[in-house]
Amino acid sequence: MKNILVTLCLCTGISNVSEAQNVLLINNATIVSPERDDARADQNILIEDGRIIKISTDAISVGASHKVIDAAGKFLTPGIMDSHVHVSSVPGLGFPGEAKPEMYPDLLKVYFKQQPRSFLYHGVTQVLDPNPGMSKEYFVNAPLHPDYMRCEVITAPGTFPFVEKPQEVAVKLFPYYVIEENPKELVDGQLSASDRTPQKMVSEIAQSGASCVKLYFEDGYGEDSQWAMMDAKTLIEIDAAAKEHGLLVLAHANELEMQKAALDAGVDIIAHGMWNWAGANSEQGVPDKVAETLNRIMADNVGYMASQMIIEGLGKLMLDQSINDPEFKKVVPAELIEWFKTDDAKWFREEVRLGFGSDISPEEVAEIFLYVIAKRGRRAMMHLYNSGYSLLLGSDFPGSQTFANQPGLTSFRELELMADAGVSLRDVMAAATINNAKQFSIDDDYGTVTEGKIANLLILNKNPFDDVKAWNDIDKVILHGQEHDRDEFLASAN
Ligand SMILES: [Zn+2]
Repeated sequence: MKNILVTLCLCTGISNVSEAQNVLLINNATIVSPERDDARADQNILIEDGRIIKISTDAISVGASHKVIDAAGKFLTPGIMDSHVHVSSVPGLGFPGEAKPEMYPDLLKVYFKQQPRSFLYHGVTQVLDPNPGMSKEYFVNAPLHPDYMRCEVITAPGTFPFVEKPQEVAVKLFPYYVIEENPKELVDGQLSASDRTPQKMVSEIAQSGASCVKLYFEDGYGEDSQWAMMDAKTLIEIDAAAKEHGLLVLAHANELEMQKAALDAGVDIIAHGMWNWAGANSEQGVPDKVAETLNRIMADNVGYMASQMIIEGLGKLMLDQSINDPEFKKVVPAELIEWFKTDDAKWFREEVRLGFGSDISPEEVAEIFLYVIAKRGRRAMMHLYNSGYSLLLGSDFPGSQTFANQPGLTSFRELELMADAGVSLRDVMAAATINNAKQFSIDDDYGTVTEGKIANLLILNKNPFDDVKAWNDIDKVILHGQEHDRDEFLASAN
């Protein structure tokens, strides 16, 4: 019987459906996918058991019980991948395990319940989390959540970020820390360095199923340099072991000298934009010494995430009106919004402000972030882009303990900032889809609307090649072939 059906299909162009359990047919969609310059109108897409089986302009028939969507006038795109989010870090509070979040267990509970839904509300169907912390189980055990990939952090006592936390917290947050040959700080109860060599830690990370190793190149925020860095020997050993295990190395680095150090260590991806230029400046474009390092990023084919929302989130943290952002209500539980308005929620704003001096106002600090630091990051990104280099969507959500960045919304706004800076809408889409899929070698499954790939797709009301805001005008989110109305994911529907 099956053979007859197949023959019939070849003759008439009408395909019949096998006994697949979960079938979804999308009719009359306009496909907008990053590998093509033009949209393809009037496409019918058959999805079976979570994968795209067939794309055709010919009619496709399915059984009477199967779900059919008429997408006439709508746009079908790949789901968004944000390759730099921290699902354990709670906006306004930080990573559970640290003192502040532990004071608000009820808020953590409502936040973690809504968070994966907020990503889906914004069409983020894949995330990569470079520092999973201790709360990723809430995310991966949620009934619906974006596909989750992770790196694991390697740090060393006495270096950032280990050095920034009380030791008993650091050893829990960074279970794969290494003991260097000449440790910069001793760890209580740590007997032997031979148990914590780079080779051993990388091997354990590979066995845990992670996709990558994250290293921190940070000797102090901004122009500061109070923290030691891991020895070059340690970094070389980590890089060699990672290559041996097929793991990518992703670097936290946002300052000129730190990005240079990351390149020296052979990293594969720089997960931050370069917004600190070590005192250099220029009227327009980037100064020569910044250009030199950015050019090296391109020559070495190192992935680049501009992560502009980190600075945006710090700037908006300073401004009272940020809390009235109408988009928050859609993705943030009401209890959290109420808490953000309290005096206690201003702790991080005050900490950041004091970093700029005791007599500076929050509004002045906001200006520095939003108009001075952000501009440098944008120019660095555009130097790469204007040289023809591909960008990766990585928002670093939430980027800090700011409340101004919220799940999913931050990924969308990162795309908006790219478009505002002059990245073409086609390249904005590529950054959010195929570039990330290729970077992490998952492009057989993700990144384009193509037969054989996982059906993590979006149906948009507008064409994202016409307007970046189309990414915030989502009709349906399709996750592994299951269709969901966007509004199912509203915080108020939870
Ligand atoms: Zn990060």
